[in-house]
Amino acid sequence: GLPQLSEDDTQAKSLNYKHIASDVDPSKNPRYKEGQACSNCQVYQGKDGDDWGPCAIFAGKAVKATGWCTAYAPVS
Ligand code: SF4
Repeated sequence: GLPQLSEDDTQAKSLNYKHIASDVDPSKNPRYKEGQACSNCQVYQGKDGDDWGPCAIFAGKAVKATGWCTAYAPVS
């Protein structure tokens, strides 16, 4: 599979990516709402049940299903 995205990755930092969505600091990320995670983001390309999956924002890397970043977009 793809290499796992690190929280220390430059782009990950710029988009405030966290492996665990509840680690997101709401004061710095006012758009974050409880329950949001990569697994229910429109941009996530992982399969249901997988711990990690591809994300169109972080090309070539896998993001964690439980993660979150400021590019989060709800599935409509
Ligand atoms: Fe997760 Fe969506 Fe951000 Fe990708 S764009 S890291 S799937 S929240």
